[in-house]
Amino acid sequence: MLLTLNAQERFKLASRSFKKSSTIIDLGEIKIGDGSLTMMAGPCSVETEEQVYEAAEAVASQGVKIFRGGAFKPRTSPYDFQGLGEVGLRYLSQAAKAHNMLCISEVIDTKDVELVANYVDILQIGARNMQNFSLLKAVGNLRKPVLLKRGMQATYSDFLMAAEYILMGGNREVMLCERGIRTFEAYTRNTLDLSAVPVLQELSHLPVIVDPSHAVGIRRFVPPLAYAAVAAGADGLLVEVHPEPDKALCDGQESLTPSEFAKMSAQCLRLREVA
Ligand code: PEP
Ligand code: MN
Repeated sequence: MLLTLNAQERFKLASRSFKKSSTIIDLGEIKIGDGSLTMMAGPCSVETEEQVYEAAEAVASQGVKIFRGGAFKPRTSPYDFQGLGEVGLRYLSQAAKAHNMLCISEVIDTKDVELVANYVDILQIGARNMQNFSLLKAVGNLRKPVLLKRGMQATYSDFLMAAEYILMGGNREVMLCERGIRTFEAYTRNTLDLSAVPVLQELSHLPVIVDPSHAVGIRRFVPPLAYAAVAAGADGLLVEVHPEPDKALCDGQESLTPSEFAKMSAQCLRLREVA
């Protein structure tokens, strides 16, 4: 056992010992955590209305029901594209609706929680904000699903404690997302910690999603990691797809083209049937 019983007891609401049955996030047609594979896909950032509609069409044509796109971007450099803000949220939600999809987008500031919640079906808390406790408490007060990404230096215990902050506010619709951690290896953007999938599913009742895009950071390695995540039992995948990755304002190097995504998602669904 990786964590002591004491540590487990400390993340009470998130723990499997507190709630034996797996949490299923019920979004109508989509039920995250029910044994199916939920695919969330779309561009890293909402850039233009045209780009986001093209991306929406590409992923919806592959059966995706949850469209992703960042409007508030947590960029390492303050000189990089920071996202379109509310306009981006509007484009994202309209493009999703036009293709009968729900949408997910990141919130990076407590002052924007309500605004983002007005446009999206799932709020994302990014890796850099996993321990932004005021932000966690703010989304804990919502009654809307939250996808919480693992901080790049966070242990499973840190991660589950962060989820605990959201659950404590009364919001029980939390998903955990493994998106790669920092290791000594610098060839890839991060190192996908696949152990997180079975370990978190044992320690917690919350659905576990894998983001292979930010984990590896290199387009050609995204599909093999996605397959491995499905085989490990992930409840869903969060994948970056861009109509023209080489022109993307953010994370083009790890974004799949629509045709690469089509191939990958079909393969993931086949794998889920046997894994
Ligand atoms: C994202 O998914 O848009 C993102 C910024 O990811 P992360 O927080 O995992 O870096
Ligand atoms: Mn990105």
